[in-house]
Amino acid sequence: MNAPSPIVTASTTCWNCSAATGGVPFCPACGKIQPLVQGADFFSFFGLPHKLTLDLETLEQRFHSLSWKLHPDHFARATESERQYSLDQSSQLNDAYRTLRDPVGRVEYFLSLHGMRKEGQKKQQAPPELLEEVFELNESLDELREARASGESAHMPQLRAKLESAQHKFESSLTDVDRELAKVLADWDAALDAGAEEAEKKRLMERMNEVLNRRSYIRNLVNGVRQELAA
Ligand SMILES: [Zn+2]
Repeated sequence: MNAPSPIVTASTTCWNCSAATGGVPFCPACGKIQPLVQGADFFSFFGLPHKLTLDLETLEQRFHSLSWKLHPDHFARATESERQYSLDQSSQLNDAYRTLRDPVGRVEYFLSLHGMRKEGQKKQQAPPELLEEVFELNESLDELREARASGESAHMPQLRAKLESAQHKFESSLTDVDRELAKVLADWDAALDAGAEEAEKKRLMERMNEVLNRRSYIRNLVNGVRQELAA
């Protein structure tokens, strides 16, 4: 699978008046609907800089305003091409909004844009600071399954209590990771404002990737325990 191409939309020009559009669906100069640019990114679509701490209210307002402007009724008397553009842009609008409004989805998307989202095998490895707890958790899970299989119920309440406490522990780790993610996103925005060097940007993106992997590992653990307790 090809990674989305790097951000190239700034050079996009309007088919009608040749003004630079920057990748937004309507030309800022003449207001005409624009064709969807291959590889155009979701941030530029909304006319937003590549910052990761997004004001959700602004995003929502732009979404509603664009939904309204892209409504088929507004293109009833437009040319065939313009009608097609509006349909393509509508579908892009929904994808872009769904992706950007979710903080984790937004960062994942952003990293893949830059070819920096790497899940790899590390996804399966426990973060070092949680190794011991993960080991204990797996033991308790095994015991619970064995107890269930053999119909032995004497230790069940004890096992369940142990698992519930592990679940709370990992939920609190998840909260820590989310806080860490928020911090690295704020660092990114500050670096962008300060005109940081490529090496610094790369370092921050690697950090985001690492935090995302850890987050996904812990979230899987939490879900696993929840499922087991609900079984
Ligand atoms: Zn134009």
